[in-house]
Amino acid sequence: MNDIDQQIKTVRQQIAAAEHTCQRTGQVTLLAVSKTKPILAIKQAYQVGQRAFGENYVQEGVDKIITCQQAQWLESPIEWHFIGPLQSNKSRLVAEHFDWVQTIDRAKIAQRLNEQRPVDKPPLNVCIQINISGEASKSGIALTEVESLAELIGTLPQLRLRGLMTIGTPGNAQQEFPLMQQIFEKLKVHYPAIDTLSMGMTADMAQAIQYGSTLVRIGSAIFGERDYHH
Ligand SMILES: *Cc1c(COP(=O)(O)O)cnc(C)c1O
Repeated sequence: MNDIDQQIKTVRQQIAAAEHTCQRTGQVTLLAVSKTKPILAIKQAYQVGQRAFGENYVQEGVDKIITCQQAQWLESPIEWHFIGPLQSNKSRLVAEHFDWVQTIDRAKIAQRLNEQRPVDKPPLNVCIQINISGEASKSGIALTEVESLAELIGTLPQLRLRGLMTIGTPGNAQQEFPLMQQIFEKLKVHYPAIDTLSMGMTADMAQAIQYGSTLVRIGSAIFGERDYHH
């Protein structure tokens, strides 16, 4: 077995153990974050059954989507999640190629994605990204704006609101994750169709699962450290 095989199996076992601890067996989806990693790495994860992948950079992500769609080894489709910051001028490529966008943080980007999503494709699944720490340098919207953005997305036919996403501050999971869980449960009362709380990365996966995460975004534990110098 190669490293990626082994590492993805280890991550699956860790997810299962964390689910078991809080009696949430089978409730957490693994998103493999393949940013900066080659197609070969995606193929290796795919061949041990991984079907959901996350990418942060528009052009890199679209290139990989197109390459994988034409690959000999593809047996059933991959679900592609855009998880990086999204500039308006790049939204069209994302609307045309991805299945999910987890980083909706303003009305304008939601409206553009809705207009640009091809009508022959199913609606784009979206999550609202929340800046849970409130630090000015962080992406995502403030807690107070979540309801109005959810309401707007609800009116856009080519978008489907699936839930919330956040990036935890290192060392702050015990403050931030319970708060995210509360907001998620509250939003679900008004929007029964939402089912996704995207929370937890390599460093804070078990804590995120403890506080109700339904989707963990894991990069380095599967693919190894990222090298940005290429
Ligand atoms: C890179 C990235 C991840 C994966 O991080 P790891 O610590 O490598 O697991 C998850 N979510 C987002 C938004 C990212 O940008």
